[in-house]
Amino acid sequence: MTSPRNAVRLAVMSRQPRTFDAPRLPDGHRSPVSTYFGRHVLDLIKLREKLPRETWVSFISTLRNGTPLTREVAETVASVARDWAVSHGATHFTHWFQPMTGLTAEKHDAFIDLNVQMSGESRVLEKFSGSQLWQSEPDASSFPSGGMRSTFEARGYTAWDPSVPMFLVESANGRTLCIPSAYISYHGHSLDHKTPLLRSIEALSANATAFLKLLGDVDVKHVAATLGIEQEYFLVDRAHFALRPDLTLTEKTLLGAASARHQQFEDHYFGSIPSRAIAFMEELEYELFRLGIPMRTRHNEVAPMQFEMAPIFEDVNLGNDHNVLAMDVARKVALRHDFVCLFHEKPFAGINGSGKHCNWSMSTDRGENLLDPGKTPHQNLRFLAFLAVCLKAVYDSSVALRFSISGANNDLRLGANEAPPAILSVFVGDQLTQIIERAMAGEASKDPEHFVLEMGVAKLPALAKDNTDRNRTSPFAFTGNKFEFRAVGSSANCAVPMSTLNAAAAAALAEMTERLRKKLDGKPAHRDLAVAELLREVFTETAAVRFEGNGYSDEWKAEAKKRGLPNLVDTPAAIAAVREKKAHQFLIDTGVLSDVEVDARINVALERYIKQVTLEAETLADTISTLVVPAVERQLAVTGSAWKAVTDAGVAAKNSPYGTRVAATAKALDDVLGGSAQLTALLDKLAGVHDELKHAQALGSEMRPLMQTVRDAADRLESLVDDELWPLPKYREMLFVK
Ligand code: ADP
Ligand code: MG
Repeated sequence: MTSPRNAVRLAVMSRQPRTFDAPRLPDGHRSPVSTYFGRHVLDLIKLREKLPRETWVSFISTLRNGTPLTREVAETVASVARDWAVSHGATHFTHWFQPMTGLTAEKHDAFIDLNVQMSGESRVLEKFSGSQLWQSEPDASSFPSGGMRSTFEARGYTAWDPSVPMFLVESANGRTLCIPSAYISYHGHSLDHKTPLLRSIEALSANATAFLKLLGDVDVKHVAATLGIEQEYFLVDRAHFALRPDLTLTEKTLLGAASARHQQFEDHYFGSIPSRAIAFMEELEYELFRLGIPMRTRHNEVAPMQFEMAPIFEDVNLGNDHNVLAMDVARKVALRHDFVCLFHEKPFAGINGSGKHCNWSMSTDRGENLLDPGKTPHQNLRFLAFLAVCLKAVYDSSVALRFSISGANNDLRLGANEAPPAILSVFVGDQLTQIIERAMAGEASKDPEHFVLEMGVAKLPALAKDNTDRNRTSPFAFTGNKFEFRAVGSSANCAVPMSTLNAAAAAALAEMTERLRKKLDGKPAHRDLAVAELLREVFTETAAVRFEGNGYSDEWKAEAKKRGLPNLVDTPAAIAAVREKKAHQFLIDTGVLSDVEVDARINVALERYIKQVTLEAETLADTISTLVVPAVERQLAVTGSAWKAVTDAGVAAKNSPYGTRVAATAKALDDVLGGSAQLTALLDKLAGVHDELKHAQALGSEMRPLMQTVRDAADRLESLVDDELWPLPKYREMLFVK
């Protein structure tokens, strides 16, 4: 008879790639993407068709120029949205928002109202009003507020963000109209990740436009941040997921011996995509395309069963909404393929974890990418100026940027020789390094044209073509015409790092504008010279943040320390550092967060860290007690009679190979139980610690190492216990699903 273990193995291995009902042409081929792309989005093209002209003009003026939206416009947009959604089978609508849990949230209402007649009869009508579109009030007391909402002010409301389109989400039996929204307390504090992002977009635009004016680009009205997210994830079979309490509760394996085969053959990266995985991707992409998400790239990543998807970049607000939506859809579609899609930063020990590279740039309303070297010396000087802005942003705001990517899960990935270190530095490549160094050494007193030429700006256009200049170990790398913030974790809501980065750039721009204005005072003819002088200063002041070498090396840690760059090794360290006023003041100065909102985010980060590591410790203790130890006891019962047989036969002694095996099992069991008891005792002790930062620090510095000790002993047992008796799917099973 097949053992239960083998039954699972056989079931998993015999699963077939799942097909889905894709639209097809009469000849049976898949329909071109362009025929259904955006079908589930109420985009501007559809709105322009459906709205009366006056309403359209007024709505577009709100989007383009920020003129306040009127009630009448909201009312008309609502009725158009209702007709469109209902005609596409939607029964409900929901404000769709991003609370500080890091997930998205929704509260659905049906499109109905009761129309009660004089006679007492009542009829149901499809209804959706302007005020329902505008604002909604979810029962909000259970979302994290970081202490901003005391119990007497438990309410918060969601407010429509008209800058991104409404869309339809499909479930098994219907569709729901989703209204992208911000989430705010009654006192106007942001309770979400979107609001600060929207504010940071404004701050960046205003400061970049003012700076550009001084540079001579007087007709730029608006500067947008752009974002293209490379999203990594793992797929595990649903059966394996169900059999592992650690995966089910924490999305991470808390124990599990390394598989002899892991990623050493380097054969997965860019390899042929496993057939079940590509079937999943095809269905996922179909759903994303209908949602107007331009997901362009798919490929295997470094670790087995690890993959990546990347869209065409968009404006940062839309790009981020699309990323959180894509994660949500991926989770749902994966289940239909008997997979669970893991966005955890480090689901498996010993192999690569998952990140989310945020490709970021700034572009003008004329469509010029400000980080793209141009054709003329002026464009190149402008490019260098914006490069200096970025260097200054990372240098001045590195603590807050580090905080923006922190979290219990990303701690396990950063600095683990597979992901950038916790030290924030900037990589610009050889060519730009030379130019920057020339600018730093240049003599500003020479005639301006000469000096500008000497900096090498005339030669810049060659740069974009040379994309080979890569450094995978850098947390913040220039890649030709954009920066890639590579330290962001795979489960993150990128609105957090992106609003911090936009704010940091806005603050750098504000200061550089001020300094340039002083230099230009009364001498506008010398503009290029003044700019070059400013660049020389900024490049010199921020020289410490540029690093071109191996970010994984110990030498870099020592060197970074000498340079005075912070190395905030884990989340508690990042929290302790960002609490300092000087580390977060720029967020307040740029209007991205108020000081109350900064405090709230720090509190939420602390709370989440404590909950996460505590949950992991509790889950590990429970798994040891209810699964691992009973399996070892069963093993020892068998071992006991075997031991008696071999000693009776006079062939084995305590120090014989068999004796060693028996002793190793008993010793590992003892270690596991001992470690587990210590772990429980530490949990009890920490439950009584009231200072949250101390609590978090102890979890990082004591609990996590203790969990590692327990894990090591359990992993030794895994290789000593009968495979049939081992209660958890093993790494080799989970990682090599075909
Ligand atoms: P690579 O793989 O070489 O890093 P890609 O061209 O594949 O570069 O880009 C990776 C991501 O960066 C994609 O999502 C892409 O759309 C995005 N990207 C490209 N240009 C920009 C830009 N100017 N701003 C933001 N993201 C960008
Ligand atoms: Mg890339």
